[in-house]
Amino acid sequence: MSNQKPKHVNARMGTQSIWGGEDEYLMQGATQVPVVHSVSFGYHDIDTWHDVALGKEKGHIYGRNTNPTVEVFEEKVRILEGAEAATSFSTGMAAISNALFTLLSPGDRVVSVKDTYGGTNKIFLEFLPRFQVDVSLIDTTDHEALEKEIARGCQVVYLETPTNPTLKVIDLKRLIDAAHKVGATVIVDNTFATPLNQNPLELGADLVLHSATKFLGGHADALGGIICGSKELIEKIYHFREINGATLHPMAAYLLLRGMKTLHLRIKQQNESAMKIARFLESHPLVEGVYYPGLESNEGHEIAKKQMRGFGGMLSFSLKGGVDSVREFLPRLQYAHLAANLGAVETIAAPPRTSSHVECTEQERAAMGIPEGLIRYSVGIEDTEDLIADLQQALDHLETALKASSVQ
Ligand SMILES: *Cc1c(COP(=O)(O)O)cnc(C)c1O
Repeated sequence: MSNQKPKHVNARMGTQSIWGGEDEYLMQGATQVPVVHSVSFGYHDIDTWHDVALGKEKGHIYGRNTNPTVEVFEEKVRILEGAEAATSFSTGMAAISNALFTLLSPGDRVVSVKDTYGGTNKIFLEFLPRFQVDVSLIDTTDHEALEKEIARGCQVVYLETPTNPTLKVIDLKRLIDAAHKVGATVIVDNTFATPLNQNPLELGADLVLHSATKFLGGHADALGGIICGSKELIEKIYHFREINGATLHPMAAYLLLRGMKTLHLRIKQQNESAMKIARFLESHPLVEGVYYPGLESNEGHEIAKKQMRGFGGMLSFSLKGGVDSVREFLPRLQYAHLAANLGAVETIAAPPRTSSHVECTEQERAAMGIPEGLIRYSVGIEDTEDLIADLQQALDHLETALKASSVQ
């Protein structure tokens, strides 16, 4: 039984994050999507069972493959990304590895950038080469070098923008065009931007993926990943995932879905707050550099303006005095969890050397242009004024500490 309402095809993104994908799953008048914990789904009629198993008829067979709660989550993100199809995973890394291992075979080439997420970078440097896949990682903002490398021929172009943790911006349209000239499939990690701020499929990308653990869920209480694209590509990736078993749990799907109901409000607040905080930090004498695509001074600002609706809730900054200053400064923050996560309602601060890029050696981080004294700051939805005051008092403390150490 379903709570029949017309489909919300023309609704805007805020409305879609709330209503999108839910209609046919609201059972017996329930206003919320049920969490279906059942591992298997039974059939009295073996012919129907057979048809469902073959995908000829809608329905579910076994929880590793599909689940009603999980399907609503996939549907909601699919709508927000403007995709034909979507499939989900236990984590963001599962989405990334499943996509890459589905699309690549021994002898293939993948072109990507140096600044991908730490785990993704590990796949490129450690795992794909073991399967004789040739990986070329190019300087993230060197578009000419990227175009040249792509033109040599490749099967996959893997991009991430803005990047983690230095918020570099890649011109998606430009590199997607280059990739399609050689018939390559383009995958974009859209975790930092979220579908509210950027839709890579609109710019021609073939697949867009998210660590739903971050902004989509938004509450740091559930892991998940999702990938959206054409029906043909998604079916291929789904087929790999149903066999290797990196399935999203229905309870996690429910938490992610519940988080997504406020996605547009959170993103609006985070976009605005991050901009104000970036400007505040930029004007502070103890801050060496601020990395935020919304700042006019940022190298990627013009491209970001072209392809993003908002600049996002992530920023990074470096302090004068490097790692020692970070040690002094971070514990002083009242309104920031010091943890390896991002995209939550609470502000989260972390040095990449202990979080996103902990898997990398100091040399690898240096090669990726990540200063050891960098702080990644994921802006929560607290009042902006409180966050700025918090940063101010921690910087005041740092100033006193630096003065004391220079006197000694
Ligand atoms: C966190 C993150 C991932 C990995 O996601 P998990 O859910 O932690 O596996 C991938 N890409 C980016 C940009 C991320 O921030």
